[in-house]
Amino acid sequence: MMAETRGSERRVLVIEDESDIRDLLSYNLTSSGYQVQTADTGQHGLDAVQAFTPDVVLLDLMLPDVPGTEICRRIRANTDQTQPAIIMLTARGEEIDRVVGFEVGADDYVVKPFSVRELLLRVNAVLRGRAAATLGAVARRVPVPPSGSTPLTRRKFTVGPLRVDVDGHYVFVKQSEIHVSAIEMRLLIYLIEHRGRVRSREDLLEDVWGYRPGVSTRTVDTHVKRLRDKLGSAGNLIETVRGTGYRLADSYPVLIEGEG
Ligand code: CA
Repeated sequence: MMAETRGSERRVLVIEDESDIRDLLSYNLTSSGYQVQTADTGQHGLDAVQAFTPDVVLLDLMLPDVPGTEICRRIRANTDQTQPAIIMLTARGEEIDRVVGFEVGADDYVVKPFSVRELLLRVNAVLRGRAAATLGAVARRVPVPPSGSTPLTRRKFTVGPLRVDVDGHYVFVKQSEIHVSAIEMRLLIYLIEHRGRVRSREDLLEDVWGYRPGVSTRTVDTHVKRLRDKLGSAGNLIETVRGTGYRLADSYPVLIEGEG
């Protein structure tokens, strides 16, 4: 198994009514070092969330009893328990449901048929996103060109009050850690990479979400709004360009943290 996906006893709950997919996921997650439980209906899944307290829930959208979106909503509504990360498993053509999935609090989604390797990477990514920790001392900072579309190959950087550690999945505004979902992290990085340039909703859908053109752009607005709210005082870095799209303000340079 791939070393980077070993799970060190993290718990994953698979809620999926198709036994083939359930078995495939259970086998591969177990082989990667996760503790795994499975549920074949929504209700069994909700019970298992209580009893098993998973770190991650892999949640099929189309279940025989309760829709996946409703399961997601109920998990998020229960504030007594530690909240698991939720990755939706969706079938092709369920784009509308996927949009709703983010609105009810899913962290990420994968489209069936998915590659097991990709799914394991997503599980890893959401777990990193959940790991609460503090960043170390500020490293040496190296300025990069002020605008353009240079991919951020170095993975820790600051933009004004914002501090982002891509691999560690941390976002700080000044000294406060902000919890962002996997998709919000991708959106933020994409805007930073294209800072100073307007990106249309269609660009964002295609490049951040990977949707084909022609799918509703409402999901972009929903996520930009949520990300802005989470960023608080730094939220105004994301500018709305009326009738066009969104842009990250060019008012601060992007400082990449060096290794020294
Ligand atoms: Ca199903």
